[in-house]
Amino acid sequence: MSLTIVCANKNVTKTLYLHRLTTLPYMRTKIAVANGDGIGPEIMEAVLKIFNAANVQLDYEFVEMGKSYFDAGHSTGMTAKAKETIETLGLLFKGPMETPKGKGVKSINVTARKVWNTYANQRDFRTLNGVNTVFSKAGIPINITIIRENIEDTYGGIEHLLTYDVAVGRRIITRPGSEQVIRYAFEMCRRKGLKKLACAHKANIMKLTDGLFLEVFQQVATEYPDIESSDIIVDDLCMKLVSRPETFEAIVLTNLQGDIVSDLCAGLVGGLGFAPSANIGDNISIFEAVHGTAPDIAGKGIANPTALLLSGISMLRFLGYSANAATIENALLYTLEQGVHTGDFGEKGTPSLNTVQFADAIISNLGEQPAQGAVIATEDFEAKHGISPVQNKLRFTKEGVVEEMIGVDVFVEADMQPDELATIAKKHLRYNENFELVMISNRGTQVWPTGSIYTELVNEYRIRFEKKEGSTIRQKEILHISADLSEDVKICSVEFLMNFNGKRGYTLAQGQ
Ligand code: NAD
Repeated sequence: MSLTIVCANKNVTKTLYLHRLTTLPYMRTKIAVANGDGIGPEIMEAVLKIFNAANVQLDYEFVEMGKSYFDAGHSTGMTAKAKETIETLGLLFKGPMETPKGKGVKSINVTARKVWNTYANQRDFRTLNGVNTVFSKAGIPINITIIRENIEDTYGGIEHLLTYDVAVGRRIITRPGSEQVIRYAFEMCRRKGLKKLACAHKANIMKLTDGLFLEVFQQVATEYPDIESSDIIVDDLCMKLVSRPETFEAIVLTNLQGDIVSDLCAGLVGGLGFAPSANIGDNISIFEAVHGTAPDIAGKGIANPTALLLSGISMLRFLGYSANAATIENALLYTLEQGVHTGDFGEKGTPSLNTVQFADAIISNLGEQPAQGAVIATEDFEAKHGISPVQNKLRFTKEGVVEEMIGVDVFVEADMQPDELATIAKKHLRYNENFELVMISNRGTQVWPTGSIYTELVNEYRIRFEKKEGSTIRQKEILHISADLSEDVKICSVEFLMNFNGKRGYTLAQGQ
């Protein structure tokens, strides 16, 4: 339910999201629904048919989003009305969507998650009776929840070709963004009664980005002594997920690593057809399946609606409809136990059902209890509710932070040997006497003042200048040094070197 308030003195309309109140049986909640592309409309129709049969008290406002809206000239893949509806209702239930290739437009799925700040992506993976895997056959039960950071990391999509040969992408990990998702992960563990949360990372290599995520995890963990916290290098995690999946309960990760690991977990429990996804934010949340539009089977009516149904069941819990959620989930589990299946899974000896027949089978089993243990009406999610913002929220840590400017990394295009480049760089120090040349690297490996003749070079170098002992430098002087250098070499980009609270805010080169 949402309640719209018009503030008399500010001429501002605010929306209060009151999802929790929807547990009252006489209240109906309106949500935004986007059918999606490819198999999207087929599986959405099946899921809503099951909801209606279970007498779920939801109203749906269908919104215009997806490929056809890109094709019609909407650069964000949705109409202005769709955006307004989603922002007002605060909840979007969506089918998979296709982003047109080669038109330079961003993925509508990633954009929606980022623009509306759905910072936590929760994906629950568990063994389902009737969905056979190597683990289920070996009697190894799997029940893993992945919490993936959903806004930051390489998904900022900030990439540049610095030279014709060299592309770079920015990986953004922030303290407030990490804290938001990590705190959500700990809270989720408490709600679900989980005892263990692991933080997976690659902080041994990405010391500042993954290092920051891990540092925040360790800080937040101190507030949750009831949850056993640990950290694990992501490659080790992948090996252990495949060899001992039953030892994990919940894992929190940065965006790209979380994306990869959650598909791995989908594979453990039977594939993408069984992978639900909830994108949780403080004002707007999005529920969808993990899989895409499956263009190879679109229009054939044979898609498996289970992943979208599991996402819908999570959404019902989020909205406070936990009794409905339990009834539908029990019917689904019972149906799977009976060996009922669509073409993408199940015993080959039993004929497969199409999407509509599969939904009808679940409907006919509403009220049944699965042998593997009936699900009871609990809420796995904490419904977020708040006053819709009137301006963008700023989140930053500033107080008590002592910053010191140390120098600069100037990235240049040059097709010469390191010694020649060092001679040019030193030439420009004549006018910039507060700086000294400390290092030149290529692809992150130091090649000057020392290096190896076996290091192969590309035409983009990093030249590191640091301030001399005892001197103070300003940004203006740093920009001067870059401007002077540009007389001899093409400048590709400039990064400042900073210390924060006396700690180095930049990494050393390999071999430095
Ligand atoms: P996909 O998930 O659509 O398909 C991968 C394989 O899994 C295909 O063989 C497909 O037939 C099968 N499959 C997927 N869902 C199924 C289902 N419910 N039932 C039965 N089989 C199913 O991945 P893709 O082919 O890489 O991507 C296709 C399109 O989907 C792309 O345009 C991609 O950008 C988009 N996509 C959208 C989302 C989203 O909306 N959240 C997510 C992933 C991909």
